[in-house]
Amino acid sequence: MTTYTNPETIALHAGYRADPTTGSVAVPIHQTTSFQFPDVETACARFALQDLGPIYSRIGNPTVDVLEQRVAAMEGGVAAVAVSSGQAATAVSLQNIAQNGDNIVSSTDIYGGSWNLFSNTFRTMGIEVRFVDPSDPENFRRATDERTRAYYAETLPNPKLHVFPITDVAAIANEEGVPLIMDNTAAPVICRPLDHGAHIVVYSTTKYIGGHGTSIGGIIVDGGTFDWEKNAERFPMLNTPDPSYHGAVWTEATKPMGPVAYIIKARVTLLRDMGASMSPFNAFQFIQGMETLPLRMREHTKNAQSVADFLDDHPMVETVIHPSKTEGAVKMRADTHMTGGYGGMVGFEISGGRDAGLRFIDALQLVYHVANIGDARTLAIHPATSTHQQLTAEEQQAAGVTPGYVRLSVGIEHIDDILADISQALEKSTMSVGIPVGTNAA
Ligand code: PLP
Repeated sequence: MTTYTNPETIALHAGYRADPTTGSVAVPIHQTTSFQFPDVETACARFALQDLGPIYSRIGNPTVDVLEQRVAAMEGGVAAVAVSSGQAATAVSLQNIAQNGDNIVSSTDIYGGSWNLFSNTFRTMGIEVRFVDPSDPENFRRATDERTRAYYAETLPNPKLHVFPITDVAAIANEEGVPLIMDNTAAPVICRPLDHGAHIVVYSTTKYIGGHGTSIGGIIVDGGTFDWEKNAERFPMLNTPDPSYHGAVWTEATKPMGPVAYIIKARVTLLRDMGASMSPFNAFQFIQGMETLPLRMREHTKNAQSVADFLDDHPMVETVIHPSKTEGAVKMRADTHMTGGYGGMVGFEISGGRDAGLRFIDALQLVYHVANIGDARTLAIHPATSTHQQLTAEEQQAAGVTPGYVRLSVGIEHIDDILADISQALEKSTMSVGIPVGTNAA
């Protein structure tokens, strides 16, 4: 099959041509648990990983395989494993190399679900997560010791929307012999973390990749660039015999297949044992979503820029949070990493604080009020009273969630309709606090 490099073509063609038996152009949904082995010899070879044909859909499925190949191609990686959610992608990407007694160094600027996983659930499993401020990349080095198994961060973390210094932290990661895992959920197509030195990419496919708010899913992409054998002492789970697989040493057992030790192990041990696999139907939905992903990301980016500029000029808005509105090193990071635009997320601090923020949300008519991002529709939420409700006032402040902060995930509706709805809701947000429109309360 020809290898394409343009994302628009990859999104439609990578990993699949017409179905060999029926000629079906759309990827068939292989809604089956198991696969008939042609003979006992083949069955034996499949279990021994000498033949990578399908066995059972918890470990691999032909529909899911197309999505895996397509996302791997889109990211410039060597292979991928799809899982049941973005949360599962984060958990599996780390549990694949970290165990009781190990630690991970994570950016503080991450999604709340990842924060909970790291500071509570991982802790109960004996995996320590050390949180560091990403504005100084050297913080990652300072937190590293001989039991550090990974660095973890988000490309475009909300609410701050400060792009992560991938290149700088990847350089430190290479020096220290630690892989950098990037959650690129908010920036597919517009940023390819592997191009900037990251070693592994995870996604919640629930967001932009699906794009239509129908399905929960996640995926892990292996860049194939991290040398697990060179850093053998740091990665015993890949370099010593695995008793759960007849004593296989993953870096050796997978050599004939290429630099895929990490991703093969994730599939054949963690999908097998933890079972967080993606359903074929959801994979089909994500394949549909991917077909228009590059097109949608362009529209999200364009509309979000228009919304950010509109809010910047609005008297009811104190601050606009968008990569284009940053300065200095923060802006430079956005410009060097987000080569396809600044993405679809916009935050703003409304005049009138918490109450005005709540009135704004309640006044929206076109924009949906939901705890989600990356839908084709425009979405809004008031984090201080919803997603970040459990945090103390100080913790909210540290996370960038001020009382009047409103988060928008700008969709692909006509920009005039998006702006008209935001405009009318801003007007209504002033009503019972008596702030006249036209007065900048900042
Ligand atoms: N990563 C990011 C950046 C997210 O925003 C989310 C969900 O909001 C996740 C991971 C978790 O994804 P999922 O809801 O698919 O488990």
